[in-house]
Amino acid sequence: MVKMIEKIVEETKAYYCLDCGKCTSSCPVAMLNPRFSPRLLVEQALIGFENLVVRDAELWSCLTCGACSNYCPSMVDFQKFVRKVREESLKKGLTGIKSHGGIFNSITKFLCRENIKQDRLGWLTPELRVRQKGETLYFVGCQPYFDIIFEEIKVNCLDNIAKLVVKLLNKAGIEPVVLANERCCGHDALWSGDVETFEKLLELNLREIKGRGVKRVVTNCPECLRTLKIDYAEYAKIDFEVLHITEMLLELANKDKISFSKVDGKVTYHDPCRLGKHLGIYEAPRSLLGMIPGVEFVEMQNNRGNSLCCGTSLWSNCDMFSESIRVSRLREAQATGAGTLLTACPKCQIHFKCSLSCDSGRNLDVSLGVEDLVTYVAKAAGVV
Ligand code: SF4
Ligand code: SF4
Ligand code: SF4
Repeated sequence: MVKMIEKIVEETKAYYCLDCGKCTSSCPVAMLNPRFSPRLLVEQALIGFENLVVRDAELWSCLTCGACSNYCPSMVDFQKFVRKVREESLKKGLTGIKSHGGIFNSITKFLCRENIKQDRLGWLTPELRVRQKGETLYFVGCQPYFDIIFEEIKVNCLDNIAKLVVKLLNKAGIEPVVLANERCCGHDALWSGDVETFEKLLELNLREIKGRGVKRVVTNCPECLRTLKIDYAEYAKIDFEVLHITEMLLELANKDKISFSKVDGKVTYHDPCRLGKHLGIYEAPRSLLGMIPGVEFVEMQNNRGNSLCCGTSLWSNCDMFSESIRVSRLREAQATGAGTLLTACPKCQIHFKCSLSCDSGRNLDVSLGVEDLVTYVAKAAGVV
């Protein structure tokens, strides 16, 4: 019988590994955490040390950011390798160290139930025009939950992102469908190895979308984007296009459906890993900023494919190493002289703001603000 680890090696092309170590030397976690080495995990798998790989607690330290894949000469799919090994790890009852008491994991599990009732549309104020059926659907993601859990650090995803997405679309003449019973996309479940939960969420979301005439789904969350665009398509038949909000806003601005007034200030931009390294969307956010008169845009030293992760994924293993990665990124942003660090992922924003607002963060030599690109664009478009 073929061993499980051999199948994973086969599926991820790990047998091409040259043992060069470029993955480990390019990995932001391995640079700080001497116990974590992607090269070693692959080598152990190739030798057939299944138990060692599956039971390695450091498996959960990987951010699945994709930085290593940029440098691997053999094109080993290390992110998929980690995801697949985590599936086996989870079957043995092993998982990462959950942040926030595991509340996000609980929410995901809760959202898998068939007959739950959510108050998901309470944030839609009367001036926001949405529909039950239509060609464009706005997938809101878990932002309503983030606002409750992170009330203290004032992320306000609904006010500062979701409402502005609808306002910008309305301004361009689009009334998006917003689902009253949308579920978590399943991103964290999938990358934590919980395929059963992921498949249930996929089924429930596709059932909600079906029959509404949806041709395009737009989201401001890069994790939802990757999940709907790549992972749903791997498990089911998808008959709609999936776009990030920056792609859609750029398209609308190019068609003169939205326009911008002059703004002041110097900004820099953080490429979220799912948007950039996973999906290759680097130019849409930059082109959009380039259309706003007066913007002084400055790149960080590490940008696009070399961009550093915000340091945490899956609400898991948020430790001193992830904090250190995040602080490095904030310092890099500060070094540009920009007054605002823009990002295009609600989770990146939460993690950055969390680091800046904790006790040690307040003593950092970092004074710049962190804002979602949607917020910035909405101000320039005059919808705030
Ligand atoms: S995906 Fe990111 S965190 Fe994981 S091994 Fe590769 S570079 Fe390191
Ligand atoms: S970079 Fe690729 S080839 Fe080199 S050790 Fe890592 S997985 Fe193997
Ligand atoms: S950085 Fe992110 S995961 Fe870590 S404690 Fe803060 S909000 Fe939670």
